[in-house]
Amino acid sequence: MEWWSMTPTEVLKKLRTEERTGLSENEAKKRLETDGRNRTEQGEGKKGFRRRFLAQFNDFMILLLIGAAVASVAISYWNGEKDFLDAAIILAIVVLNAFLGVLQESRAEKALEALKALSAPKASVLRGGEEKEIPAEEVVQGDILLLAAGDYICADGRILENQGLKTEESAITGEALAIEKEEGVLAEKTLPSDRKNMVLAGSYVLAGRGTVAVTATGMATEIGKIAALLAEQEERETPLQKKLGETGRLLGMGALIICGIIFGMGLLRRQPPFPMFMTSVSLAVAAIPEGLPAIVTIVLAIGMQRMARKNTIIRRLPAVETLGSAEVICSDKTGTLTQNRMKVTRLAAIGKGLEQDEEKRRFILTLFTLCNDVKRQGTKIIGEPTEKALAEAAEEGGVSLKGLWKEMPRIGEVPFSSERKLMTTVHPSGGKWISVTKGAPDILFEKCAYCLDGGRQAVFDGRRKSEARLKNGEMAANALRVVAVAFREWDEEPLFFTAEELERDLVFAGMAGMMDPPRPEAQAAVEICQRAGIRPVMITGDHALTAQAIAAELGIYRAGDTVLTGQELEQMSDEALERAAEDCTVFARVSPAHKVRIVKAFQKEGRVVAMTGDGVNDAPALKAADIGCAMGKNGTEVAKGAADMILMDDNFATIVEAVREGRGIYENIRKAVHFLLSSNIGEIMTIFVAMCFGWATPLLPIQLLWVNLVTDSLPAIALGVDPADADSMEQPPRRGNSLFSDGMVSSIALEGAMIGMLALLAFGIGHIYFDEEGAYITGRTMAFAVLSLSQLIHAFNMRSEHSLFRISPLGNPMLLLAFFIGCLMQIGVIMVLPLAEIFKVCPLNGKEWLVVAALALAPLPIVELEKLCDRRRRKK
Ligand code: ATP
Repeated sequence: MEWWSMTPTEVLKKLRTEERTGLSENEAKKRLETDGRNRTEQGEGKKGFRRRFLAQFNDFMILLLIGAAVASVAISYWNGEKDFLDAAIILAIVVLNAFLGVLQESRAEKALEALKALSAPKASVLRGGEEKEIPAEEVVQGDILLLAAGDYICADGRILENQGLKTEESAITGEALAIEKEEGVLAEKTLPSDRKNMVLAGSYVLAGRGTVAVTATGMATEIGKIAALLAEQEERETPLQKKLGETGRLLGMGALIICGIIFGMGLLRRQPPFPMFMTSVSLAVAAIPEGLPAIVTIVLAIGMQRMARKNTIIRRLPAVETLGSAEVICSDKTGTLTQNRMKVTRLAAIGKGLEQDEEKRRFILTLFTLCNDVKRQGTKIIGEPTEKALAEAAEEGGVSLKGLWKEMPRIGEVPFSSERKLMTTVHPSGGKWISVTKGAPDILFEKCAYCLDGGRQAVFDGRRKSEARLKNGEMAANALRVVAVAFREWDEEPLFFTAEELERDLVFAGMAGMMDPPRPEAQAAVEICQRAGIRPVMITGDHALTAQAIAAELGIYRAGDTVLTGQELEQMSDEALERAAEDCTVFARVSPAHKVRIVKAFQKEGRVVAMTGDGVNDAPALKAADIGCAMGKNGTEVAKGAADMILMDDNFATIVEAVREGRGIYENIRKAVHFLLSSNIGEIMTIFVAMCFGWATPLLPIQLLWVNLVTDSLPAIALGVDPADADSMEQPPRRGNSLFSDGMVSSIALEGAMIGMLALLAFGIGHIYFDEEGAYITGRTMAFAVLSLSQLIHAFNMRSEHSLFRISPLGNPMLLLAFFIGCLMQIGVIMVLPLAEIFKVCPLNGKEWLVVAALALAPLPIVELEKLCDRRRRKK
């Protein structure tokens, strides 16, 4: 027997589970242990330490260096010198560098893994009689899955109860149409595509609700069997990483060419070829910015961790980059800009006297309670805020929820959807039947032919319709969210009716207006946006007047702005919409499908758009937006899956905070790149210029490699976690994606030249004033010290485009730490005798150190001057 050819009872029996209670926690635990976690294995799996370590040597220049070191051993052996020290040191430094590389890589990867776990999909199951939300990976065979619109289906299962379930199974079958599910028993030979009483892992629920007994998990599912990848392919590299990889390769080529020239010039000047070759290769290893993409990954990963602590979970790395350049933030109203703590403050109906008439009020509230999905749990009412507010108002008005549900149970329903903005339920009523429809007033009115006027049924004529509209508008203009309710009595049971048939010729009963106060922090966040040149836009399913009133309260809607409704939108061409979007800050009564058009309209003007969403149908808009933001609390799994980031607290202010972080992270990457490149150019300049003038080489190969070790990774990473400039949100968003804008290229070149000159100056002074006749050792030592110390100092210049005296010198403890470690390593190598011998330097005396200190500190005043000139020029 197959699962689809059994009755639900047989299925439950075979699975040893209960429909009402599900598995016990204990049993589930046991099954998880025997069956394994519910996941389809993906990709190559994690790289071990050894593979990672070896990968660090997968670089031509490093291999060349190792080859050269080995060759030097061979040659010295040949010459009978037996001098292995140089080669050993080179190897040691290379290994140490590789270690650092692995450390950085695994740190970044761990951070990314941890974040991934945070955004892992969840599933609702029955366990021990209680509804529980658990990680989808922990679902086991026999679990009772509770499905609702917007859920990812994480396992294969047999449907036990079906309330209009529709699923999308294109990930498994390629079939893009919605599939309507059934409960019945099917023949054993039914083809997979026709097994309508089964749900498949990897699909999702488009509409309806259902209960499902899990029949297979993990690799045993259909999708597991065909070994398709469940999750969509994640982009491996962000645009920035790609670009930096390219830039790095280009600069690397440049460095290589220069190193080649240096080697050639050395040969022409009849320098001994082998040492010359070692110098050139070491210089290439030191100067090629091979670490650029890795630094970016680390900075992005650290930034993501920081954002996670502030309630933003980044699902796709590129979003961090894009966030910083966001120009429009389209936000839902309910729950994101408002508190989603609704309270009914007014009831209204046609005619007069509702305020005083308890009974009439109770009747309206009774209808609102019937057509309602809330549940009672002890003293608490749980459910969607709008419905909860209505149920609470009913209870306060004397309606007994439980009594009512028992007396008139629901026997049919058309669920609420953001497109229809209506919901209908059917109940038995004194031998007959009644259907109750509630929804957005303007839409419900169109479905009504009659109304209760002063409690008596009457035709819903023009006059009464205008009265209803007026009352609706009045409440909406007072920022109330309005829901209307209507009913219809049936002599026959209206069970197999379509929504269309059920929602016709209704009797309009009344309306409820509820308050949903704005989030207190939203107003400040809107202000920050506007100062930062970002346009906040409200997109809502609510009434235009309600939306406008709340938008005005928050400062989103300002005098002169326009409000567009979904209806108006529908009549516009895309071009007209682009024009209209120019000064529209509120889109009201829109449905999810409109959101895509709105995003595209903004994007057409070249804007970077962030968009929030929570429902299944928001997924396309979330994907279309440059930054799709899903709601962490009230969002569906599908929305989360489509989004670039998840707002854990569903809060507008959190998006703005994330933009601030995004801007900071981008700036920090720029700082790290700027630092790395100017330092590397400094190293090349030192050797190149000396070579051009026919001087002795100012630094030996191991010295170059050591400088690279001391100055490259640590300060760059420290710059990557620099706290954001205080005024980062006072500036307009950066346009375009050029990392090297604003004259960065020229300042990198200038500063590189500066570092090179300082090192050469140290070499010259040391050689002329302190070296003994014919020796270079003091000169080299001083050049060695200045080259690395001046870079460590120069790192502080990167912290701000403004004068350093404007920011706190202690603002970045990581950088201070990197600085001290670097200084310690550098000074140690010179002052500790055995080390000094190995590195072919000599301990310096006080006078010499004084010169070194003066030269190493010079980048501070020089770059201050450069910044001053820059500011002057920009002002002009
Ligand atoms: P936002 O997009 O800002 O979250 P919203 O939550 O107001 O907007 P919807 O949930 O689509 O958007 O609601 C649109 C309208 O539908 C509401 O103004 C209300 O009149 C009506 N409505 C909302 N919830 C229900 C419900 N559960 N039953 C019936 N009608 C509802």
